Amino acid sequence: MHGHPVFVAQHATATCCRGCLLKWHGIDKGRPLSDDEQAYAVRVIMAWVDKDMENDR
Ligand SMILES: [Zn+2]
Repeated sequence: MHGHPVFVAQHATATCCRGCLLKWHGIDKGRPLSDDEQAYAVRVIMAWVDKDMENDR
């Protein structure tokens, strides 16, 4: 099993956990994500998924 594409995308885009969100996206740990930040993370993931599907012939 290769994992759900969203999990793969979360790791590829560094949105997999709060540590990566902080390190790569500058989103503070220790508080819930704001709506904007959540929308941002989803956009990043979806953009990556789109791109990956193009590359995947
Ligand atoms: Zn992570």
